[in-house]
Amino acid sequence: MTPAQEVKVLYIIGWGRSGSTIMGNLLGEIDGFFHGGELTYLWERGLLEGRRCGCGQLIPSCELWSDVLRRSFGDDFAATVDAQHMVQAQRDEVRVRHTWQLLKRPADRLPQDDALRRYSGAMLSLYQQIATVTGARVVIDSSKRPSDAALLRLLPGVNPYFVHLVRDPRAVAYSWARKKAQLDRDRPALMSPHTVLDSTVSWLSWNLAAESLRKRVGAGHFSLVRYEDFVSRPHAVLERILALVGEAGASVPLSEDRAAELSTNHTVSGNPDRFSTGRVKLREDREWRSKQATTDRLLTTLVALPLLHRYDYALRG
Ligand SMILES: [Zn+2]
Repeated sequence: MTPAQEVKVLYIIGWGRSGSTIMGNLLGEIDGFFHGGELTYLWERGLLEGRRCGCGQLIPSCELWSDVLRRSFGDDFAATVDAQHMVQAQRDEVRVRHTWQLLKRPADRLPQDDALRRYSGAMLSLYQQIATVTGARVVIDSSKRPSDAALLRLLPGVNPYFVHLVRDPRAVAYSWARKKAQLDRDRPALMSPHTVLDSTVSWLSWNLAAESLRKRVGAGHFSLVRYEDFVSRPHAVLERILALVGEAGASVPLSEDRAAELSTNHTVSGNPDRFSTGRVKLREDREWRSKQATTDRLLTTLVALPLLHRYDYALRG
């Protein structure tokens, strides 16, 4: 495959702790699919902070990523690609609040403004070279950020599809309050926690941004998935996603009892669960229903109210 050919990118959008890592890893097991993890963090976490690939290697030492980076940015990619500049461009131009501005831009046309042009060009090159190196027809990006998703529309040669993954905001807030170890650093560290209010405000704003994207791209490229449906009926949900990306013939890598064998992956960032390989079984984490404090549940319900009904979540969760 040459970079001139179109690459399908399946982008998972949604606020964190909604099951995007396991969904990406399951899809990545399908022949012709490649899950790169949260590609938006390649620059900051992968290259600047030295966090590890899903295979356990540092990103520049991972055979797959060093090949992709060399093809994208030249043999001496460590010297030629300015990761700090990419991170700055993300902060200046591709924050979630920029989603609406990005959606106003015409499709299939790289931005001409300097910082955004370089950032978009680098992302386009990455997607194309991932497809070349892996031979994948579909590249999965589980970055979850609606703004990066909106930017995908602008990349000529990328055929973008979007899965909008939502989970009950009360379960999400409960999950963020629990400590979770980061496994991609050399020194032990915990994932940054979010307060109940912070998690729910972000849940609302990220989902509102995703709703705007849906209106812009239309149903042919966009699918809404509830986490609760995904873990209870994964076959049906994954088949719907395969149909969305024009790969309906592919077989879903799950047994009848919702279990899968996960092989080593090359995800650049994501939930620590991305390092889990071997047999995994999908099940809904329902601990929050019995253990969440009443005040936390009330606060979350109140803040998330504008979208609660839209995603079929009951007032009394
Ligand atoms: Zn790797």
